[in-house]
Amino acid sequence: MDNYNCCAVWDHTCSSTKLDPIPIISCIIPTLKLNDSVSKIPLIGPKYEALLLQLGAKTVQDLLYYFPRTYFDSSKVHEITDLDREEKKTFVATVLKFSSIRTRKKRMTIQSALVEDDSAQIDIMWFNQPFLKDSLKVGEKYIFSGKLNPKSYKPQVSSPEHEPIKESQTHVGLITPIYPLTQGLSNKWLRSRIKWLIDKLDYVTDLEETLPKKITTKYKLTNLFEALRAIHFPETQKELKAAETRLGFEELLEIQVKMLKRKKSIEQLTGPSINPDRTLIKEFISKLDFELTQGQTKAIDELADDLSDKKPMNRLLSGDVGSGKTIIAIAASLLTVKSSKQVAILVPTTVLADQHYQTFTQTLQDYDIKISQVSSNKNIEADTKNADIIIGTHALLHQKKELFSNLGLTIIDEQHKFGVEQREDLRKTFTNKTKKNAPHFLTMTATPIPRTLALTLFGDLEVSELKEKPSSRKPVKTHLVPENKREDALKWIEKKAKTGIQIFWIAPLIEESEKLQVKSVKTLFKELQESLPDLNVKLLHGKIKPKEKQKTLDDFSNFKDEKIHTLVSTSVIEVGIDIPNANIIVIEGAERFGLAQLHQLRGRVGRSEKQAWCFLFTSTKPTSDQRKRLRYFAKENDGFNLAEFDLQRRGPGEVYGTRQAGIPDLKIASIFDMELVKKTREAALEMS
Ligand code: ADP
Ligand code: MG
Repeated sequence: MDNYNCCAVWDHTCSSTKLDPIPIISCIIPTLKLNDSVSKIPLIGPKYEALLLQLGAKTVQDLLYYFPRTYFDSSKVHEITDLDREEKKTFVATVLKFSSIRTRKKRMTIQSALVEDDSAQIDIMWFNQPFLKDSLKVGEKYIFSGKLNPKSYKPQVSSPEHEPIKESQTHVGLITPIYPLTQGLSNKWLRSRIKWLIDKLDYVTDLEETLPKKITTKYKLTNLFEALRAIHFPETQKELKAAETRLGFEELLEIQVKMLKRKKSIEQLTGPSINPDRTLIKEFISKLDFELTQGQTKAIDELADDLSDKKPMNRLLSGDVGSGKTIIAIAASLLTVKSSKQVAILVPTTVLADQHYQTFTQTLQDYDIKISQVSSNKNIEADTKNADIIIGTHALLHQKKELFSNLGLTIIDEQHKFGVEQREDLRKTFTNKTKKNAPHFLTMTATPIPRTLALTLFGDLEVSELKEKPSSRKPVKTHLVPENKREDALKWIEKKAKTGIQIFWIAPLIEESEKLQVKSVKTLFKELQESLPDLNVKLLHGKIKPKEKQKTLDDFSNFKDEKIHTLVSTSVIEVGIDIPNANIIVIEGAERFGLAQLHQLRGRVGRSEKQAWCFLFTSTKPTSDQRKRLRYFAKENDGFNLAEFDLQRRGPGEVYGTRQAGIPDLKIASIFDMELVKKTREAALEMS
């Protein structure tokens, strides 16, 4: 009977007593384990099991960690007259009227209610929630949580949460958890099952404190049992805060520990020692036709130091678009090759591979270095034999080991295109391709990284930052063009083009479908040929044959009067393309791009001392949120601020593409909580 408790312990009614000679099987419930299916919990049958699965809660552990989205705090009930536009507040009111109507356009439904408390009456609006008519009854009292609609001129609450007042009071204490739900599940039901589980926490036999005692003591953290109880059913706000701190700590600590482990395991490897030949670097720099920025000089210095070390370098070079990262990669490559080692450079697109091939070849022409390019359509074997520098797309990863037998340095450009989790895989892949030494590893990214992120998601890396752009650069003038000004804008652009400025024209992003994307870019191409007949417009997209693509880009890049003015393209040019004479970029359907991506696109222009412009057109009437975002983008030229703005709203998973790559979005901790980030990093160090 060790693993079993009599049902008397549980909340089933049961007629068996200790005197029963044979226990009734249905009365005996096995003790729970974290990995057990939720169906082991009373009242969760196949139907609810399936619904919970939709929420991602398959096991007891999942359910324990299925945290409330928000809480009703009836210890802090406000009056309707206290409501404001900034902060969600809880109020208790009686429903006087309720209606649900269907709008003709757009097939939307609108629900509205008039509610009242002792202080006032107020209107409430919801969109597309027809089922509310079953849960809101005229004459009944409910507890609501919401804020005033800032757009409405008369006081109105939009889409508040609500609960029948009796339910929230009888079920739990004064603070009621509100869970994210799915159709068919009610808050009341989910709350009752989680409550059951929390009351029986002691019977979950393998639930153990996850943090060492010295850490919980030092950082004054609540124990896990208490934190789980309080995150679901807090009795006071203070308790809730303590639970959030503890669980957030655990979340971030897990990442920190993982990154630190990685860092340590790399430090134990040996890498090739590269001669940090300062004379060579000096000579190389003196031949450039521009002065390096301070940041560039410092980054080259840091790299040279790292490369000379016995342990392999693992460094991230972060710098806004156009800040000049390529030249740093070239300098590091030069040092490596001159120490008789190979360099592999991995980039996300063939277009960028072609460009780098040319830039590297040109910049290193005086140094007798063999550079070759690998892509899926080139004859690799012949081409790359004895190459000092090999540049390529993913095709690089599938090359035979022999090609890289002498690898000293791997560079990943536009790292954010590969995903954070893939970074480690890539590093290992290249390490496996060498005989004994682990190559040095440099990743470069144009998505600026807030310091908190650098300390967590990138905690295994050293970071070099390019904070400033070459001083000759002027900020790109960005305009959000309303539909009725489109014609004027086209005329203005045409006039500019005739003075010799080249233009990138980006077609709207169409999600997940390369085919639709190509269609949209072709339609735009035709339109522009018609509306701008004097300009020589060319087309570029992912489906064009590599050779043709290359020719188009070459022609665009080596611009002369008779050649291409305007390149109509999908966002394939987003990454890395460097054509300094292109100084206007037009982005169609701008509302569909994320800010980081828009910034990447805008970064294609303004890459010389000349003035550049960016025009944003929208393909549908933008919502006020979209307009706000685009306006913000138009006046903000700093990639760092933009990334932070985007990160706050969409989370690092979205911005850095880590969602697919396996880094969970944090449930509780905020990646911007510097205090917490620092503490967890410190704790991870103490634990290692
Ligand atoms: P990114 O950081 O976006 O990869 P690139 O390395 O492509 O930027 O550099 C953008 C452009 O700026 C290139 O044409 C490059 O030659 C030029 N450049 C790089 N560094 C400087 C500098 N210090 N002064 C002037 N131009 C520079
Ligand atoms: Mg670049």
